[in-house]
Amino acid sequence: MQRLQAYKYALRPTGQQERQLRRFAGSCRFVYNRALALQQARYEHGEPKLGYAGLCRCLTDWRNRPETAWLAEAPVHPLQQTLKDLERAYANFFAQRAAFPRFKKKGQGDSFRYPDPKQIKLDQANSRLFLPKLGWLRYRHSRDVLGAVKNVTVSRSGGQWFVSIQTERAVDPPIPNGGAVGLDLGIVRFATLSDGTFYAPLNSFKRHETTLRQAQQALSRKVKFSRNWKKAKARVQKIHSRIGNARRDYLHKTSTTISQNHAMVCIEDLPVRNMSKSATGTTEQPGKNVRAKSGLNKSILDQGWFEFRRQLDYKLAWKGGRLIAVPPRNTSRTCPCCGHVSADNRRTQARFACVACGFEEHADVVGAINVLRAGHARFACEVSGAVRPPAAGTHRSDSGTAQCRV
Ligand SMILES: [Zn+2]
Repeated sequence: MQRLQAYKYALRPTGQQERQLRRFAGSCRFVYNRALALQQARYEHGEPKLGYAGLCRCLTDWRNRPETAWLAEAPVHPLQQTLKDLERAYANFFAQRAAFPRFKKKGQGDSFRYPDPKQIKLDQANSRLFLPKLGWLRYRHSRDVLGAVKNVTVSRSGGQWFVSIQTERAVDPPIPNGGAVGLDLGIVRFATLSDGTFYAPLNSFKRHETTLRQAQQALSRKVKFSRNWKKAKARVQKIHSRIGNARRDYLHKTSTTISQNHAMVCIEDLPVRNMSKSATGTTEQPGKNVRAKSGLNKSILDQGWFEFRRQLDYKLAWKGGRLIAVPPRNTSRTCPCCGHVSADNRRTQARFACVACGFEEHADVVGAINVLRAGHARFACEVSGAVRPPAAGTHRSDSGTAQCRV
């Protein structure tokens, strides 16, 4: 089984290298925006959209023109990859997966990608990496890279540069460990398992909310683009990245623990995107319970349920297990003891008490047990060949490749 895995490290560039990194990211942004503007102009004139090859010819032209000759100082492969990204953005738009591609702004997702492994040298013993036109770059070698290097992405976040090394390697077919478990995701308890164990929420955003608000207020009082404004801006960004880091760390630890101890995890197929839709609504259809909903939205987005599910999916696949999503139907209102379905079973948020047989348990545990039952039923259908499309988010190709982006 081929495993694709990415390893991410903090870079430690020299001053000269950092200037180069910024310049290259800027060149890529310029090329992206210029190509997008070109496509838009062609559309307005009724001309057909240029393909990737056509855009690459334009890029060569720009690199040779005297007014944009500075583009030739940046490595050509990352510039071409930027055009590929634009092509993908258009494809996603035409497939109605994404909105129309937007122009890139400085400081938002600054990154570029080296696609050719022949041009990349990785010297793990000395914690350094060779990239074209940058030379040897030092990085924080926090763990070993396993497998053959496929490509390298350099990115900037919170004022720091990172490198993500994507690799491919063959691994033995994994043997799953443990049994089946149902999982209920919630606000009060982040995750509850059907065996009764639960994980408290981290609420990284809530914990930093006051600090963040103060920093944002301080920023708003500064003169825009002044020295002090830049300092305050950096402070805000730092808090944001700290919140993100804490959340990522928590999600990874939780999903690793669960995937290591279970061969089959059943989860409710929650349309998180719908739940976190704008609470305010539109002018024609103003939203209901705006206050309560925006609070809920904040919590849901803060928990990172989608990311958690994505991690569980690929980590279980690595371990030979599987994630099964079941439609959420009466999972919180069905009695696991006698099967009685009633909204009265759940009088409060936390307590479940069956009105028919008197069974009592924490509501989240009941939800998890019901999810596990539904998961077993779904799994049986799939094995017996009953046609049922896979639930959203658990779709995986059967080529034996598990993908991950860390
Ligand atoms: Zn009952």
